[in-house]
Amino acid sequence: ARRRRVTVIGSGNWGSVAAKIIATNAAALPSYHDEVKMWVYEETLPTGDKLTSYINRTNENVKYLPGIKLGPNVVADPDLEHAVKDADLLVFVTPHQFVESICRRLVGKIRRDAEALSLIKGMEVKKDGPCMISNLISEMLGINCCVLMGANIANEIAVEKFCEATVGHKGDKEMAQRWVQLFSTPYFLVSAVQDVEGVELCGTLKNVVAIAAGLADGLEMGNNTKAAIMRIGLREMRAFSKLMFSTVKDTTFFESCGVADLITTCLGGRNRRVAEAFAKCGGKRSFDELEAELLRGQKLQGVSTAREVYEVLGHRGWQELFPLFTTVHEICVGRLPPSAIVEYSEHTPNFA
Ligand code: NAD
Ligand code: 13P
Repeated sequence: ARRRRVTVIGSGNWGSVAAKIIATNAAALPSYHDEVKMWVYEETLPTGDKLTSYINRTNENVKYLPGIKLGPNVVADPDLEHAVKDADLLVFVTPHQFVESICRRLVGKIRRDAEALSLIKGMEVKKDGPCMISNLISEMLGINCCVLMGANIANEIAVEKFCEATVGHKGDKEMAQRWVQLFSTPYFLVSAVQDVEGVELCGTLKNVVAIAAGLADGLEMGNNTKAAIMRIGLREMRAFSKLMFSTVKDTTFFESCGVADLITTCLGGRNRRVAEAFAKCGGKRSFDELEAELLRGQKLQGVSTAREVYEVLGHRGWQELFPLFTTVHEICVGRLPPSAIVEYSEHTPNFA
């Protein structure tokens, strides 16, 4: 039988770690082709080197994951069409704002029987409401798309510290198991649930809560305040998810993609870090400026997700029901000061 070929679309911090995990498993599993392609959004390094040639020469993504060997069977490719041409499995892991244009370029260029997995935390807003990234991929490309989300700070997984993740699927258990197998290692424990929207909304919405947690850190509010923000945030995550998709299950919020990802991101994520800096300067510098300075090319998802959630809620007249989500957006755009994040709770959310 034909050995399956995997292409990873994206090569940032998490994209590089995902390629490393997949490459280890592809080399060990007889049903997979050893070589794993990784599409790289090409850039020139300060040394004058192209990022792809650097990766292929040293086996290291010096810009987004320095100090980590990706595995000799990871091949960086700057040509998107070429990278996906023969792939049976496509793993999408770029910042969410780039997916739509990437998919546009992929129409008609992939195998008809390809299967996709999205590791992307984010959504797009369309006229009729939120469009999850997995849905965008599957609609634009006419292929099935599962998701993998979890408490997965990439730098920790890169050095093989134990964690868990959740695969969300629509009912194709065999496909879900294939993704579980491709990602499972002794230090990366993956389980599958039949709730693609629930898993993806958990991963997406927790980034907004992490902005709130980072603001509280910048204001030096302490652990109780941060825990309160996480609890209220989790409640808004569940309420929003269920309003958007009635099929979302309560149990999903207890998986790694739910409460565990919320905790790790509020403690140690990039959204938290940049929001802390924003509060520390009293909102005088923009999120864009702080993101560029602190993350050097890595991207935040929480600020744009807060705007997207705000738009969706605005269309339906539901903003008052989600004071935490709404307040985060208003702080990000400068309509409210960072301190508003700890004042909002005077308006009690209506959801139990
Ligand atoms: P990153 O933020 O580290 O890097 C940004 C990436 O975007 C780089 O690869 C860069 O080359 C690319 N890029 C810049 N401009 C582009 C363009 N115009 N078109 C296409 N690509 C462009 O990336 P990441 O951490 O791998 O994040 C990807 C997704 O994974 C996000 O949705 C993120 O929320 C999610 N995620 C990240 C982590 C983590 O710890 N880093 C963990 C779990 C999930
Ligand atoms: P940040 O993008 O805030 O670093 O969150 C990473 C993440 O999603 C961990 O699971």
